[in-house]
Amino acid sequence: MQSQPASVSLDTRGLDDIAARLSAGFAALDLFDRIAEIRTRTAGPVVFTTSFGLEDQAVTHAIFNGQLAIDVVTLDTGRLFPETYQLWAETEQRYSRRIRALSPERRSIEAWVAQHGIDGFRSSVEARRGCCSVRKIEPLRRALAGASAWITGLRAEQSADRAATPYASIDPMHQLLKLNPLLDWTRERVLGFVRQHGIPYNRLHDRGFLSIGCAPCTRAVAPGEPERAGRWWWEQNEEKECGLHSHSAGHARGSSALSLVAARNEG
Ligand code: SF4
Repeated sequence: MQSQPASVSLDTRGLDDIAARLSAGFAALDLFDRIAEIRTRTAGPVVFTTSFGLEDQAVTHAIFNGQLAIDVVTLDTGRLFPETYQLWAETEQRYSRRIRALSPERRSIEAWVAQHGIDGFRSSVEARRGCCSVRKIEPLRRALAGASAWITGLRAEQSADRAATPYASIDPMHQLLKLNPLLDWTRERVLGFVRQHGIPYNRLHDRGFLSIGCAPCTRAVAPGEPERAGRWWWEQNEEKECGLHSHSAGHARGSSALSLVAARNEG
């Protein structure tokens, strides 16, 4: 049985109110309750985007375990690791739920590859951002079309940029609520949650891949390196982001991620 969303107005003011309410009390809730509250307080479609990382698997577990009416979606860039596709299949089998896949638009990807070459993203930052735009950003736009809320697996600890991420905000690009229910969790806490619940995870994590994206753009990191150092490692002094989570123009509500990390709560 799926939980029924409450009837809440979703005009701009309504979104702002919901973001404020969700931000106010989340620190005391465990992951299951955070996700359930997001579903309960938000009317309309809710989308969770997964790239099958450790955090995403924890959120997926909470959604599927709670049988919540949340659409679990992945952006199949066409360049993922074989281990990621294997985990995708394993996750569907474990929960008997389908994960909706969005692929790049055929003409766009054909044109990009024809112009830049199959691995042309290494030639410049602009080319790399162009590839991410075609393989990720445009499919994300389709994934979120018509949604009222977007759940992600972002954590503040993952990078300096993500430390400024709010728990709940209005995403100006997609005009919906953006929610980060693992924002204040450490990697160790996520790992403990995954182990505690026997959640399937990407075996690449055991080989030093802390953050896993497309295969040609991800390497393992050495002990002590930042979590996202293995993403686009050939780029110098660039933000390790593909553009999916640009939050600078967002309108945050509630406590900052930095203060919440300092006050880690129980999970
Ligand atoms: S991570 Fe690499 S292969 Fe994947 S979309 Fe971005 S540039 Fe392209």
